[in-house]
Amino acid sequence: MPQEQLMAILAQVAGVDPKFTLILVIVAVALLLIFKGGGSAARAAHMTRTCRDCGATHPGFAKFCRRCGKRL
Ligand SMILES: [Zn+2]
Repeated sequence: MPQEQLMAILAQVAGVDPKFTLILVIVAVALLLIFKGGGSAARAAHMTRTCRDCGATHPGFAKFCRRCGKRL
């Protein structure tokens, strides 16, 4: 299937401009590569910390609880 035709179909499905769809596809592929690569930032985003005092969950890079301010 020609690439322009594929982009036109994607644009119709999403209801957006074909150029914007192309950008979306590039961003999606880039994100996929980042998460697949298993970089430290991606791993930190997947990790969660739970506050021992109030039970609030935070991203892995969080140092302090955003609800009660206690150190995680
Ligand atoms: Zn807390």
